[in-house]
Amino acid sequence: MKYVYKLLVLLMVSFVSCNQPCNCDQGKTLGKYVLVIHGGAGTILKKNMKPEVEKQYRDKLAEVLKAGEDILKKGGSSLDAVTKCITMMENSPLFNAGKGSVFDAQGKNEMDASIMNGEDLSAGAVASVHTIKNPILAARAVMEHSPHVLLISKGAEQFAARQGLEIVKPSYFFTEKRWKSYLKVKAKQAVGEKHGTVGAVALDKQGNLAAGTSTGGMTYKMMGRVGDSPIIGAGTYADNTSCAVSCTGHGEYFIRNVVAYDIGALMKYGQLSLKEAANFVILDKLKKQGGDGGLIAVDHTGHFTMTFNTSGMYRAYATSEGYNGVFIYANEENIKPQKKKMK
Ligand code: ASP
Repeated sequence: MKYVYKLLVLLMVSFVSCNQPCNCDQGKTLGKYVLVIHGGAGTILKKNMKPEVEKQYRDKLAEVLKAGEDILKKGGSSLDAVTKCITMMENSPLFNAGKGSVFDAQGKNEMDASIMNGEDLSAGAVASVHTIKNPILAARAVMEHSPHVLLISKGAEQFAARQGLEIVKPSYFFTEKRWKSYLKVKAKQAVGEKHGTVGAVALDKQGNLAAGTSTGGMTYKMMGRVGDSPIIGAGTYADNTSCAVSCTGHGEYFIRNVVAYDIGALMKYGQLSLKEAANFVILDKLKKQGGDGGLIAVDHTGHFTMTFNTSGMYRAYATSEGYNGVFIYANEENIKPQKKKMK
């Protein structure tokens, strides 16, 4: 009888200490998944967008989302889902990352990327690279196969080659569209509008979080300029005890405000919810400073947010509950979320 009573007490204690209605293991949410991706924030207005171009973006985001979701559905890791989504967006000329990267002041493509594992806080990043086809794969290799967190320029390129990653000629990254915007910005001699950076965050069925970001930076940026995207804590952060974050926007503001880390810190030390933290940092703090941009984030219980202070952000999400959606302009999500089957 004494043992039955003890067992009952034990069961009650473990039930109360686990604030999730679903399976939990040391604060981890088990069995459910969430995936959120972005393709950059900026001045993205319906009136300036050709319908066929809008369709290209929506289709690509849906395709990327599905590929990432397939990994999570099968019990794959958040790291693999994030890596897959970002690689696919890097291979598309639509986004300012990998193939579609913008040109710097020298007329060159200089790319940055980073990835972080929320399970053990391991992280990897590359900056100012010109010849790595998929900078996110190089960032992951830095995390998994080097004792370092951030490699830059030639060192990063040599390391990527040694890791067997695909190395391409810088001309691979040339696209007519980005060259035209480079020429336009060059005529004005000012750093240009930047949108199209890509990122992904995920919670997997094992309760692990991951985040990654990849970018060509800002059009006409100075040679050697590094933005927030490869800076762990600024553009990317993941910690299983709080959340996973990927940012996009005017990098200098995101670095100065350590945005990605700040979201998790506000949750952990300030007891803010993910939504409250993101709203405060993006819509209040950054907005007041003139820092344009946004972020996607998912917390360890599966709450997620896509918050931005610009007119648009290419974005999409999918959850194990069957909810998903692809959005471009502000306030599109206000149309009630639908449980719909992905193509
Ligand atoms: N954050 C990127 C950078 O500053 C650009 C972007 O997200 O659009 O390099």
